Amino acid sequence: MWRATILTLFPEMFPGPLGLSLAGDALSRGVWALDSQQIREHGIGRHRAVDDTPAGGGAGMVMRADVLAAALDAAAPADDPRPRLLMSPRGAPLTQARVRDLAAGPGAIILCARFEGVDERIIAARQLEEVSIGDYILSGGEVAALALMDACVRLLPGVMGEERSGEEESFEDGLLEYPQYTRPRDFEGRDIPEILLSGDHGKIARWRHEQALALTRARRPDLLSGRKG
Ligand code: SAH
Repeated sequence: MWRATILTLFPEMFPGPLGLSLAGDALSRGVWALDSQQIREHGIGRHRAVDDTPAGGGAGMVMRADVLAAALDAAAPADDPRPRLLMSPRGAPLTQARVRDLAAGPGAIILCARFEGVDERIIAARQLEEVSIGDYILSGGEVAALALMDACVRLLPGVMGEERSGEEESFEDGLLEYPQYTRPRDFEGRDIPEILLSGDHGKIARWRHEQALALTRARRPDLLSGRKG
């Protein structure tokens, strides 16, 4: 079973939106599992402090390496085969390829930071892989962890209704997805492209591929340069 362990100061944020819809059904059917652990249980002193002022001065607070180490060690033994991820805007941007890898593995241990982030030393000491969900700053790693898990869980066998629908989407072949239409045929004077109503599946497939290419060239030329075929 694919298993996610979350370390957070806000365990009540989980499963959150992943308790609903496809991911939620799969969660209650035992296709995947989620446990969220309160980092503060490993905090220091009567106030269970998890953070302190930055060495060298400056604004904000930094999460302590010793507290995070204790939380990580309690959540997963050293020989746990799951990758240890640290949600971080400095990390490698998450891609569909990395999501596929993660979904094919045993799950993930995910550390969600708050404040200014974590003491740098915890990253090497516990071999954390920093993962970003985009070039913007969130107030904490929880929403990023939810996004990452959502992307993984929908790929697990038996989660999505139609197995194929995962393969024809944006990024799966290095292209953005072609435009989609459904009823009604006339929406405020805008028609569905004639070719989609032709019943000629060969022609439709070619049209979709051309549309996907044109859209990718216009919006995300960066995707085309690194593309297989
Ligand atoms: N001072 C840090 C930002 C801290 S934001 C910096 O400038 O890099 C607080 C926490 O939110 C981060 O430690 C991280 O866990 C999470 N976070 C913020 N933006 C993120 C992003 N784009 N991707 C993944 N996690 C993010």
